[in-house]
Amino acid sequence: MKTKQKIFNTRMKKYLIITLCTLAIISCKSEKKDNGKINVVTTTSMITDLVKNIGGDYINLQGLMGSGVDPHLYKASEGDVSKLSEADIIFYNGLHLEGKLVEVFEKMAHQNKKTIALSDALDENTLIGSEFFASNYDPHIWFNVDYWKEATKYVVKQLSEALPEHQAVFKANGEAYLNKLEALKTRLNKIIQTLPEDQRVLVTAHDAFNYFGKSFGFEVVGLQGLSTATEAGVQDVQKMSDFIIDRKVKAIFIESSVPRRTIEAVKAAVNAKNHDVEIGGSLYSDALGNPDSIEGTYIGMFEYNVNTIVNALK
Ligand SMILES: [Zn+2]
Repeated sequence: MKTKQKIFNTRMKKYLIITLCTLAIISCKSEKKDNGKINVVTTTSMITDLVKNIGGDYINLQGLMGSGVDPHLYKASEGDVSKLSEADIIFYNGLHLEGKLVEVFEKMAHQNKKTIALSDALDENTLIGSEFFASNYDPHIWFNVDYWKEATKYVVKQLSEALPEHQAVFKANGEAYLNKLEALKTRLNKIIQTLPEDQRVLVTAHDAFNYFGKSFGFEVVGLQGLSTATEAGVQDVQKMSDFIIDRKVKAIFIESSVPRRTIEAVKAAVNAKNHDVEIGGSLYSDALGNPDSIEGTYIGMFEYNVNTIVNALK
């Protein structure tokens, strides 16, 4: 009887040790996995910058698209798919900006993943419509600072729901960032006021700046339409060169995420008609600058763009 009891005790001890070890491994694993943080994946560098400003050190943040990357043409790599499947929240622009990722997002939504389109923060009736674009709306919403403020509030809301224990921090970060955006708007308006109204004509490779034009009183003309997926034809280039000559436009602009050949073709067409037009510089349209530079932030990018535009058109 005593021996049986002994064997039973030893077995119990073994079970207990195994159970405790297993529990320890499980808890260690989950601690290592999220460190109390959640995994957040973002698409464009503008969205990555915004989410970083709100989430700070409380989230593991991974942005898929770096500087100079064109979201219209971007396809998910295998690495991206695994990042997305490990994400707790995915923030993307929506309105078909990330045209080739739509299927991946749909798949993620089927897996009950939280996929958040920042464009959902906006009232559709205030968006610029387009019958030629897949979503029927212009997706370049970040070029309206007021829309970006709405996107900021939306990110605060989503992160607060995911990590309620840190909601006070997200709220404070959001308020600080909203103040910075308001100050940015004031600075931009001051710079733009130095440019006479009839010189506020912005010619770029693709139609990324319609919201910018509407907000700041520029007439905006893009050669390639809302998406870079459609190439400009010879007729488009000729029409654009006539417009530039007719309106006495001093400078036209290339974009950091779009090949420069289309804008160079326009310059050549203007020159062929014995007129001159400068290439006024490279603007950041659908991607921010190098992450280590000032243009690697949304605020720095916007100031750089406006200074470049105003200096070249003056
Ligand atoms: Zn675009």
